[in-house]
Amino acid sequence: MQIPRHGQTKEEILDKLAQFKGQDLPWRAGRVFAYVYDAGKEADDVTKAAYLLFLGENGLDPTAFPSMVGLETQIVRMVADLLRGDANVVGNFTSGGTESILLAVKTARDYARARRPELTRPRMILPRTAHCAFHKAAAYFDIEPVVTPFDPKTFQADVAAMRAAIDERTILLVGSAPGYAQGVVDPIAEIGRLALERNLLFHVDGCVGGLQLSFQRKMGGYEVPDFDFSVPGVTSISADLHKYGYAAKGASVILYRDRSIRRHQIFACALPATYALVNTTVQSTKSGGPMAGAWAIMHYLGQEGYERITRDVMAATAALIKGIDATGELFVLGKPHMSMFSFAARSINVYQLADEMNARGWYVQPQFSTVDSPPNLHISMNQGTIAHVETFLGDLRASLDAVKRAPRIDFAQVKRDVDELLATAGDRAFEQLAALSGLQGGQLPKEMAMINTVLDCLPDELTAQMLVEFMNDLYV
Ligand SMILES: *Cc1c(COP(=O)(O)O)cnc(C)c1O
Repeated sequence: MQIPRHGQTKEEILDKLAQFKGQDLPWRAGRVFAYVYDAGKEADDVTKAAYLLFLGENGLDPTAFPSMVGLETQIVRMVADLLRGDANVVGNFTSGGTESILLAVKTARDYARARRPELTRPRMILPRTAHCAFHKAAAYFDIEPVVTPFDPKTFQADVAAMRAAIDERTILLVGSAPGYAQGVVDPIAEIGRLALERNLLFHVDGCVGGLQLSFQRKMGGYEVPDFDFSVPGVTSISADLHKYGYAAKGASVILYRDRSIRRHQIFACALPATYALVNTTVQSTKSGGPMAGAWAIMHYLGQEGYERITRDVMAATAALIKGIDATGELFVLGKPHMSMFSFAARSINVYQLADEMNARGWYVQPQFSTVDSPPNLHISMNQGTIAHVETFLGDLRASLDAVKRAPRIDFAQVKRDVDELLATAGDRAFEQLAALSGLQGGQLPKEMAMINTVLDCLPDELTAQMLVEFMNDLYV
C-alpha cells in the first residue's frame, strides 16, 4: 500500500474512517465496561470544540506558547487542590497514566542517584496489585521490581511484606488508590508511615481513582480511606483525567510533594548542534488538544457535575453488585472502594461467560488468576453505562445459563494439556500453544475464552512472551 497518488475528498475520507470505526466495540451504546469514560453528548461536544481549538498548538516550547503553560498550571492546581496538596505541591500534565507513572519512577531513580551516588541496581517495591505500567517503568529504566503479596481477602497490599522487602537498594514504595483490577484502595496511611520511617519516596497510583475518590470523600457517605497528600509520607501521586475526569484521551497529571523531587523529572540537553532541549515530560512536540480538552471538561462539569456523576455511578455500581451476588454463582472479589470491581465464579469458566456476554453485545474485561486469586471479569461503571444495569443483569443471567448448559472449556483439563505441552513440545511449544488456544498468526480472534484460559494457565513470563509474539505478528 502507498500514499494515494491523488488526494481524496473530505467526504470520501470521512466515509472510510466511519467504516473503520464500525469494527469497534459499541461503547456509545453504554455496553462497554472498560476503556471508555463517557460523560454524555453535550460534554463530548464541549471537549471536541476545545480540543480542536488547540489541535495545532505545540506544548514543546512554553516561550512560544504561553497558553500551554497557563492551561497546564490551572489543570495542575485544580487537581492538586482536589488531592489536598498545599502550595508546595507541583506537577505536570502528561499523555496518560502510563506516562505519569514512567515519570514518577524515573524521578525516583534520579532522586536516589543524586543523593546516593554509590547506589547501583536500584529496586522498587510493588504490591502484586500495582499496575503493569510500573513494570514497564522498571524495564525501561532498569530498576528491579520487587513484587510483594496482597491480602487474598481484602486485595490490599500486605504492608508487613513490603517492610520485609526493603533493603539498601530500595528507592521507591508504591501503593494504589485504587488498584484497577479490584477497585480496592491500599493501606496508604500505613505505607506512608513506612516510607517516612525508612526515608523512602512513596508513589500513590491514583490514576483511575484520584478524581472520583476525592469527590466521594467530599460528598461523604462513602468509605474512602485517606490516600492523597493529606497522608504523611506520600511524595507523588498520578491521577488520570481521561478516566473518571471524563476528559478526552491523552490526559493525566503527575504531582510531587515539592519542587526538590520534581526537579529530577525534567530533562535538558544542550549538547548537539541544534536547539537546546528542555522537557518536563516524556513527549517533546505535543498537541495542545488533550490539555485544552481536559481543561474544558473540568470547567464544563464543575465540582457539582462531577459529584452528580459520582453519585449516580456509585448507585448503579451498588445495584450491579447486588445483582451479581444474587446469581449465587458469581461473587465480587474484595470490597471495592469505588465504581470498579471484579467478579469470579464458583463453578463455571468466566472467560466463556465473557464471550457469551460479548455475543449479546456487552464488553466485560477478562483478568487472569494469580497465586492468591481466581480468574475474574472486570467492570468499570461510568456515566455512560449507568442506564443499562438492568438489561446487563438480564443478559448476564442468560449468559450464565448458557455456560452452565454447555460448558465448553474445563480449566483443569486445559491446565493439564498446557503443562504436558510445555514438558514435551520443546522448541515448538509456542506454535502448539497458539494452535491449542485457536490463535491464528496476524489475526484478531473472535472468541477469547480458550485463548484466555491457555494464557492464564501459562507461567507469567510465557504469557507475556506469547502476547509479544501475537502483537509482533498482528502489526506489519
Ligand atoms: C489506567 C491505569 C493506569 C495506566 O494508565 P493509562 O492511562 O492507561 O496509561 C495506571 N494505573 C491504574 C490504577 C490505572 O487504572
